[in-house]
Amino acid sequence: MQSRKRNENEKVILAKISECGAITKYDLAEQMNISIPTVTTNVNKLLKEGVIKEVGVADADYGRKPILIDIDYNRYFSIGIDIQEHFIYYCLMNLRLEVVFEKTIGNKENNLEKNIKIIINTVLDAYKLKKENIIGIGISYPGLVEEETLLLKKGPNIGVTNLSLESLRNELEINFYVGNEARLAAFAENVVGVSKAYMNSLYISIKEGIGAGIIVDKRYYAGSNEAAGEIGHMVVQKEGKLCNCGNKGCIESYLSTHTLISEFSKVTGVLLNSLEEVFELYDASKETHKKVMQEYVEYLVLLINNSFLIFDPDCVIIGGKMSEYQMQIEPLIKQTMLDHPCSMLKADRKIEFSALGYRASKYGAALRAFEEIIALI
Ligand SMILES: [Zn+2]
Repeated sequence: MQSRKRNENEKVILAKISECGAITKYDLAEQMNISIPTVTTNVNKLLKEGVIKEVGVADADYGRKPILIDIDYNRYFSIGIDIQEHFIYYCLMNLRLEVVFEKTIGNKENNLEKNIKIIINTVLDAYKLKKENIIGIGISYPGLVEEETLLLKKGPNIGVTNLSLESLRNELEINFYVGNEARLAAFAENVVGVSKAYMNSLYISIKEGIGAGIIVDKRYYAGSNEAAGEIGHMVVQKEGKLCNCGNKGCIESYLSTHTLISEFSKVTGVLLNSLEEVFELYDASKETHKKVMQEYVEYLVLLINNSFLIFDPDCVIIGGKMSEYQMQIEPLIKQTMLDHPCSMLKADRKIEFSALGYRASKYGAALRAFEEIIALI
């Protein structure tokens, strides 16, 4: 679709229709508290573009029945792509912000541009869509990015580095957006997930790597160099374990899911490959198991407490793969918080678990592509 900068009224009108469903111009004007001529001007632009359509007439007591307008949900979509070490997760989202298609492919060759083309073709084929139906493609990357230049800059845990997607964008003539995985996950939770009701939140992504997405006043905070939230590389042990970033003692070396899996493999004598296997095997009555889990949770609580001390958010969200084990890990987190009291921390500080789980980053990427045309918060 042709890229056109939409004004705030158009964005809010689309958001309102997405929220309410079919509506008349009069009701839009009333609910948004703006004049009917302003609504009419903007609605006409959106009608011309085909983002919305007339869907019937509303009941009226007298005179001409007012026309109902609604978003044309079969017309425009966005694609969200989450690049991970071994897999690429992707989804197709409609303007109701519903995911209508999602799939995973292997990332063995690390040929990202080729994989993105495969994904686009798969999605277009599956939904009988044309390129023109795609408003944009959001790419979630586990590392540093430059949003402006579409640069996937540096990710210690991923083979793709220093890759700009500008030439691919020019070749395909589709709008591209790139973002850090934790930041996009935080954004998704903020728009459709667990932190919807909060103004300020901090999302901790716990996967092979550790990162954070910071939401301030409902907007994500990227920092002066788009590097905010790289909390995995805060040093917590002087001369500690060697980290993928080159430094020693980073908290990621203690909190990565790899670490928990490998520590459990050691104490059980079984070569484990996933968190699922760890929690299947975990037996709290066994001292050796308990010790490994407790050590892990101690580092997690340290990170949670430090996050509260630095940002004072409404809540800290546990995200990434670890969020799927809330039942097992939440009681341990709460107990460990009680075991380490600090008079500067609120006793009832709020911990939430991701509502979107491992899907959060790709949903965030898809939402990011919509952000240019619809007011999401
Ligand atoms: Zn590091």
